[in-house]
Formats: sequence, C-alpha cells, structure tokens
Amino acid sequence: MNQQFIPMRLLTVSALLRHLPEEHPKFSIVESDFIKRQAGWRGEQKLSYYLDALPQQFHCLYNLRLSAHIQTPFEIDALIISPFALYIVESKNYFGTIYFDSVFNQFIRLKGEHQEGFPNPLVQATRHKDRLAAWLSFRHLVCPPIQCLISIANTETLIKASSKDNEIGRMVCHAEQLVAKIIKNAQSYTQQLLDATQLYKLEKLLLSDHTEPETDVLAQYSISAADLLYGVQCSRCRCFTMKRIARSWKCNRCGHADPAAANQMMLDYFLLFGKTMTNSQCRNFLKVPSRHVVARIRKQMGLEIGGSGCGIGLHYLMPNHQYFHQNYQLWRKQ
Ligand SMILES: [Zn+2]
Repeated sequence: MNQQFIPMRLLTVSALLRHLPEEHPKFSIVESDFIKRQAGWRGEQKLSYYLDALPQQFHCLYNLRLSAHIQTPFEIDALIISPFALYIVESKNYFGTIYFDSVFNQFIRLKGEHQEGFPNPLVQATRHKDRLAAWLSFRHLVCPPIQCLISIANTETLIKASSKDNEIGRMVCHAEQLVAKIIKNAQSYTQQLLDATQLYKLEKLLLSDHTEPETDVLAQYSISAADLLYGVQCSRCRCFTMKRIARSWKCNRCGHADPAAANQMMLDYFLLFGKTMTNSQCRNFLKVPSRHVVARIRKQMGLEIGGSGCGIGLHYLMPNHQYFHQNYQLWRKQ
C-alpha cells in the first residue's frame, strides 16, 4: 500500500485482548504478542517518518503483501521503487544491543545479562528479494537490481557484528541513516533502468496484487468465542458495563458517558469474527435487545449493507483498512 495503516494483525490481536478476561490462561501469551506487534508498528511509523525525506522519484509502498502464485504470500515492511533499483526495507525495533553472528547466521539481542535469539532479518530480507525477483519474472517484467536493507528503528540500539562483515555494514543501519544510504546507492548507477511510465506501471501492478492476510485470530490462539467478554466496554474503567441511555452510553460502574462507546465494539466484532455481521449477531455481541439501536449505530458509523431482501437477509459489511486506521483505538493496559 502507498499509505501506511495499522497492521491488520495488530488490530486483530488488540480486539482479542480487549474481549479476553485477564484470568484466561491464554491472556499473557496474547498480551506479549500484542506488545511485540505494537513495538513493530512503532518501528514502521518511525521508518516512514524518515523515508518521507526521499526525493519524489522514489515511491514507497508499505506492508505490501504479494503472492507470487508459485509461493506462499510474503510481506515487505517497505518497498521503495526508484528509476535505478528496488529497495526492500525490513524494519526492526529492538532495544539494547543487537549482534549479527555471520559464522552461524544467528541474530542475538543482548539486554543487560539477558540474551535472546531472533530470526535473522538478513536471511528474511534475502528471501524476500528472491521472491520479489520471482514475482517480477512471473509477470515478464524487467528485473532491476534489488537491494535489501534492515532499518533499526531506535537510534540508541547498539549494532554489533561478529566480524568486519561488509555485507552487514552495507545492509544494516539506523532508520535515520536510511535515506542517505539509499540515495548513495542510487547514485552508483550510471543510468536509469525504468522511466516514469514503467515506474507507474510497476507500482500499479504491485498494488493490484496486494492482499490482506486472512486472519482468524480465535483459531490462531485456539480460543473459543464463548470465553470472550460481550457487551459494551467503558472507555474509562474498561468494564463491560455500559448501558444505552438516551442515544448515548453510560457506565453502570463509574458513571462515564460516551455516545460512541459501541463503535469500538462493532469494529472488534469484524476483527474477531469476519467480514460480515447481521443485526442479530451484533445485538448478541453488544448485549443490546433493540434491533433499532443497532441499526442506528450502523448508520451513524457509515457501515455499508450487503445481502438481499429487506431485513433478515441483510448484513453489515466490514469497513476498509483505512477506516480501521482512522477510527480504531488500540487496546491499552488499564
Ligand atoms: Zn466505567
């Protein structure tokens, strides 16, 4: 995508966490996944902040997820297309010291006394490079040089390598040095490989092949829908104790009033259960008896209606990714 949105996987984990009781045996696993994904998202936001400084002829596509038909889909944090080369950028948000061991191809994070191994981002980026080349060849497109870069979001993170490995120095840098690195690399090419029309065509093709991941978050964690908390959550005390009073919602526990309290719940439903929701499913999820109340919220949120007939055959459709990006409040600890 040429716009950066909160990743769908972060949204679905957030929805699950909001409706999962803290005493649930899976709560801590889901919470730690959420924290990791949220750190990743912060790293990606930092990345786009720096990439905004690239000259106009460099186009950035974020979280592009391509299927090469012959392989399983692959997702690139940022793909920069330029007249000279393509740049795959993988963003990593680690704190402390990171260590690239090129002898055993390991990637280790050191934080105080604690050492933790992670999948090597160099291996991941190289795999993405091969897949992107296969994607281009599958479409009989010119394959410009593809460069892989690893962006370390936090400038205080210390980067170390096991040897004076030029490959690591060439590929890894802090996010704030990324633009200078890309421009320097682009200047090493003596001629443009793609003209403006070819660039436009390539960008259009890449965007048209982008697909959102199908995420069944309940199945992913083997959590039953019956384990979840239903009702309308209070945005202040976090209890599911909001009651409908005169076109608004009021918390039975702390007295907080919020006319839009149910909107988050509607969005959570789509993230947890799928792309459609009937009026009856919504009433069950919000614990609201009136179908008119649900219909009113739907209208106020601007959700589209699908299906046929008038009433029973109809359902509400999940809004697009941009809508979630603009309207969704991520889960936060009480
Ligand atoms: Zn409350």
